[in-house]
Amino acid sequence: MMDITTKWQEAVKFHGHACPGLALGVRASLIALEKLGVERAEDEELVAIVETDACGVDGVQVIAGCTLGKGNLFFRDYGKQVYTIARRDGNKAVRVAFYGSKPSEEQKALREKVFSGKASSEEKELFQSQQQQRIQDILHLPFEKICKVEFVDIQLPSKARIFNSIPCAECGEYFMEPRGRLQNGKPVCLACFKEYTRW
Ligand SMILES: [Zn+2]
Ligand SMILES: [Zn+2]
Repeated sequence: MMDITTKWQEAVKFHGHACPGLALGVRASLIALEKLGVERAEDEELVAIVETDACGVDGVQVIAGCTLGKGNLFFRDYGKQVYTIARRDGNKAVRVAFYGSKPSEEQKALREKVFSGKASSEEKELFQSQQQQRIQDILHLPFEKICKVEFVDIQLPSKARIFNSIPCAECGEYFMEPRGRLQNGKPVCLACFKEYTRW
């Protein structure tokens, strides 16, 4: 088993930079895998449902092995730092919900300055060191201090299926059959389909 620092470095390599958001996804995955008593998913034996589309999702892909490409990563657009990881065998699921915290006025002002490019080099350094501290806290604090962890009952999404591809009557590109629409009696891809709605 790799230690947490090695795993963190792997996640950073994949994601491109080190940030607190990535740390949330990494820690959520580590907590869930431990509670479920499993290792990273080789195939589709684990399923992740993420309630954010931010940096943390990359942590889940690297650490839990639930990826968009394998079809065992599901996105719910709730804008929450909540990660649920489930085992397909035995239907066990762990939900990790991070507690938010209100940034102080100083922190808000500093963040704004840094992102607008108006920060001095000292301010940039201060911001970086605060970010580093947050990352360390997320990765290493006892989980009770940073998140709520519970076993939950969920309806598991069905496994990824393979469908026939057919050519679009408009652009000629092949697409997965269930994604098609009929237009003037011919099958077309969603990119070529002109939606008709009055509502
Ligand atoms: Zn990031
Ligand atoms: Zn088309």
